Amino acid sequence: MALLLFCLAQPSLAQAPGDAYAQLRQAMVRTQIQARGVTDPRVLEALREVPRHLFVPWPWRALAYTDGPLPIGHGQTISQPLVVALMTEALKLRGQERVLEIGTGSGYQAAVLSLLAAEVYSIEIVPELAREAEQRLRLLGYSKVRVRAGDGYQGWPEAAPFAAIVVTAAPESLPPRLLEQLAPGGRMALPVGPAGGDQSLTLVEKDAEGRIKTTVLEPVRFVPMVKEAR
Ligand code: SAH
Repeated sequence: MALLLFCLAQPSLAQAPGDAYAQLRQAMVRTQIQARGVTDPRVLEALREVPRHLFVPWPWRALAYTDGPLPIGHGQTISQPLVVALMTEALKLRGQERVLEIGTGSGYQAAVLSLLAAEVYSIEIVPELAREAEQRLRLLGYSKVRVRAGDGYQGWPEAAPFAAIVVTAAPESLPPRLLEQLAPGGRMALPVGPAGGDQSLTLVEKDAEGRIKTTVLEPVRFVPMVKEAR
């Protein structure tokens, strides 16, 4: 909160014009992302490009390029830039893939994915967030993203299989429908663990025969992936 007040008290930062944000964004990639070992040049380029400040509510805009999650309303958050980078890098996208995201939130991660893959399908359980993200993505020209309001545990069967799946809320265990909808040779990155407890950023790889291998990447803290009947 002190940092927020500080930033809002700095007119140059609170009202930073477009290119000032671009400078903050370059610095974010250098000091938060590259400095912590993310090397995929396509991922770094996508993070340099997507205007993260336009994905957070305006009172938080000045903090859009700081090293943490931020509130986006409805008790939800936009993930820390480093976490977006790590999850995206883990998918090893090359440009031709169809990708599924669970937890659209602000639409930021979906925008990043859309610069790295052919098609992005994104599901958000809070209808207002789904609507806002869809509008925002359309206005900003991210036309490869499709957003649906619904329960991510079900996946998007009509568009399956997906070469890559990213889940940006934490289920307690691997959601079976999402495993089913992962293509042979596909990769899924997701946090797994109890709500509010220790969660592990996990990479799931499905081989050509459909066998599953899981690797734990990092300890993380995400909002829980909620069941539809709350
Ligand atoms: N990827 C987002 C961050 C999302 S935070 C971004 O870039 O801004 C996690 C989101 O997952 C929240 O918006 C939350 O409402 C959503 N969520 C939680 N459980 C879900 C579920 N079962 N299905 C779909 N979305 C879910």
